[in-house]
Amino acid sequence: MKEEQKVVTRQADGNKRIYFDHAATTAIHPEVMAVLTDALENNYGNPSSFYKEGNVAARAMNKAREKIAELLDVKAEEIFFTSGGTESDNWAIKGAAQAQKKKGKHLITSTIEHHAVLHSMEALEKDGYEITYLEVDSDGLVRPDDLRKAIRPDTILVSIMYANNEIGTIQPIKELGEICQEHKVLFHSDAVQALGAVPLRPKDLGVDLMSFSGHKLYGPKGIGILYKRKGARIAQFIDGGAQERKQRGGTENVPSMIALAKAVEIAYSDMEGEAQRQIRLRDRLINEIPKVVSHAKLNGHPSTRLPNNVNFSFEFIEGESILLLLDAYGYACSSGSACTSASLDPSHVLLAIGLPHEVAHGSLRISLGRENTDADVDRFLKDLPKVIQRLRDMSPLYEDYKNNKIEALIPHEGGNSLVRKGGYGI
Ligand SMILES: *Cc1c(COP(=O)(O)O)cnc(C)c1O
Repeated sequence: MKEEQKVVTRQADGNKRIYFDHAATTAIHPEVMAVLTDALENNYGNPSSFYKEGNVAARAMNKAREKIAELLDVKAEEIFFTSGGTESDNWAIKGAAQAQKKKGKHLITSTIEHHAVLHSMEALEKDGYEITYLEVDSDGLVRPDDLRKAIRPDTILVSIMYANNEIGTIQPIKELGEICQEHKVLFHSDAVQALGAVPLRPKDLGVDLMSFSGHKLYGPKGIGILYKRKGARIAQFIDGGAQERKQRGGTENVPSMIALAKAVEIAYSDMEGEAQRQIRLRDRLINEIPKVVSHAKLNGHPSTRLPNNVNFSFEFIEGESILLLLDAYGYACSSGSACTSASLDPSHVLLAIGLPHEVAHGSLRISLGRENTDADVDRFLKDLPKVIQRLRDMSPLYEDYKNNKIEALIPHEGGNSLVRKGGYGI
């Protein structure tokens, strides 16, 4: 690799950069990179062409599909390659709505879905469909009883994510799937954050449709999967050639398919061990952050959460200023606050779990990955209190709090505590 193509791994001050944003994207695994570059160079044929180069590409594509199907324990013809998680979500939802509209025009989802799901639902609303948005509890869980009550004779699709990308909460997908099966309603789950992180067998979960993405598990960007159970009826999504069993036109991205199969294979080869390792790092952060920073609250379920997800709210400060200062200290993290999402509102997920605006604005997501170590966590636990203190020292709210003009919404020793409602009235 040429020097200028390399991600900066060291800062001007000599500190190593620490990447803590694996829920946003991941660097390609070296073994995935090797098969990807080899395929780009040597496997350029069009799988639809009737000569050697085409046959070689078609065979590699089929092998990739079969490998993924085998690891997910589904049929190869149930795996459809897409351009990523966003397309898979769009296809599942809009394709189901299109194919099932004679049965009804009612869909159910949750308030904490990824925008690929929420905005697909909103597009359908403009087209005359009716959407029920299930609320979640303060840990971010959908209540199965709420789903049962929301299903109507004209309900055509339920879409509930497997695990949330911001707060990490893992939903009771199997239970939700059983309810959908009882009522003979199609069930879609956005499992982008779950693939490779937790064992996952669509057949055991009662799902008909499941979305996955390559770049969240050390594969390339721009490649994803829609699992479609044989017999689940949704409309084709992209008109064009006869690719992907006539369901999605467009010359196949064979090198990325091969690379994605490799990424899934690597993830499945050491999933349990790697999950345990990340859970240990995650729980160190979850347990130790409230000890080194006051007025800190954990967001998301304390244990039923992704192995790599840590999400905290810190009172009296803004998420984006935390990000900027952490960046200067050498960390890549994410926040649930305004400027990062190019909108003024804090994250819809943090509001949905009941955080007041002031608290949601001061949130930080750390999402761990394969390359993170105990040393990274050690350094972060030393730097984070400095960052938070520096920002609080500049915060008029913190000044007011110290002068007893306002009360804290998060208790001094927060942890997984409840947040006092009411706000500062400013
Ligand atoms: C990243 C992500 C997506 C979008 O996937 P892309 O491949 O980036 O389009 C969808 N859903 C969830 C939960 C995600 O984390």
